[in-house]
Amino acid sequence: MLDFCIIGSGISGSTIANCLNKKYKLLLYDKAKGAGGRSSFKRYKGNIGFDHGLQYLSPRSKEFKSFTNSLIKKRVIKHWKGNHKFLNKRVRRDKKHIKLIGFKGNNDISKYLLKDIDCKFQSELIGIKRHKDCWHLKFKDNSFIFSKNLIVTAPFPQSKKLTSRFVKTKLFNNKVTMNASITVLLMTNKTGNKFSSFFTNDADLGWVSYENSKKRFKFDKDLWVLQSTFEYGKKHTDNYRNKKKYFTNYLINKFTKLTKIKIKKIYFTHIHGWKYSSNSKPLNIQSYWDKKIGLGLCGDWFGGPRLENGWLSAKDLFKKIN
Ligand SMILES: Cc1cc2nc3c(=O)[nH]c(=O)nc-3n(C[C@H](O)[C@H](O)[C@H](O)COP(=O)(O)OP(=O)(O)OC[C@H]3O[C@@H](n4cnc5c(N)ncnc54)[C@H](O)[C@@H]3O)c2cc1C
Repeated sequence: MLDFCIIGSGISGSTIANCLNKKYKLLLYDKAKGAGGRSSFKRYKGNIGFDHGLQYLSPRSKEFKSFTNSLIKKRVIKHWKGNHKFLNKRVRRDKKHIKLIGFKGNNDISKYLLKDIDCKFQSELIGIKRHKDCWHLKFKDNSFIFSKNLIVTAPFPQSKKLTSRFVKTKLFNNKVTMNASITVLLMTNKTGNKFSSFFTNDADLGWVSYENSKKRFKFDKDLWVLQSTFEYGKKHTDNYRNKKKYFTNYLINKFTKLTKIKIKKIYFTHIHGWKYSSNSKPLNIQSYWDKKIGLGLCGDWFGGPRLENGWLSAKDLFKKIN
């Protein structure tokens, strides 16, 4: 029997798995095809690809700064320098923030933390039962496992659906609002663009990243990631699937209009709606641990909207377990 079953391979799941692996027998499951969760990297071919979710890290806490410094030394992450263009005055402050990105893709941190861990991908947890003092876990492919302890790191609504009947505190009475957003991945002809990213004050398009500026690959085409604002995501994440072409073209048109970049040819597009992109209101605890039944919860939603919050939450859970 497993000591720990961990659900989720994003920063929270990979961090807690990495901490526990030294002492316990564990397995990590994720419904996605690969590691990273919302820090996903969409490969086009070879090392050419797009940071699909998380855009960059700007460490704030002392602990996370020290962790990211160690990853820079190990060449897991690096600085994203360059000219980040502000199309409005309001966000100019952000220019001071350092921007860290994965060496090959923004899922590199999770991949690094999980390198010695048994992971099962494309395995969605769909049923949880307590059975003779252990967890009886059922997955979508009808497989089962038994584990003494269970840790769930899914976003708030998914964690609530899976585990709320076992949580004795009022944790799930909290109102955690998850922001939605829409991402368009775009490959065009070489445009001669000199900027690394664009911040906008537009109501619909919030940010554009120029992927070639991350210096992970050399390619005769330009790769872009267009991120909608949360307001736009809120209006359209539930219905964009029926009109993918319309929403893709709408955000591309916004991009060219705002940046004045001239596109002659489009080679590839992909659109994705993030229902649970990030949450806005932090809770007053960092993680949840019920030692009696061996149930743990951690995730960015405990502390805030950024990857760092997921890492801090997982570290806090590890302290509680120990
Ligand atoms: C578009 C976008 C841009 C962002 N930009 C930034 C940024 O610039 N800077 C920043 O710091 N943060 C950013 N974020 C937020 C950041 O990505 C998250 O804070 C962080 O990735 C959360 O990590 P996590 O491990 O807590 O959750 P997740 O990464 O969501 O991991 C949860 C995992 O659980 C899996 N899962 C869920 N349910 C099940 C189930 N039933 N069975 C099996 N597996 C399951 C999911 O597949 C997922 O892999 C962004 C997010 C998005 C979406």
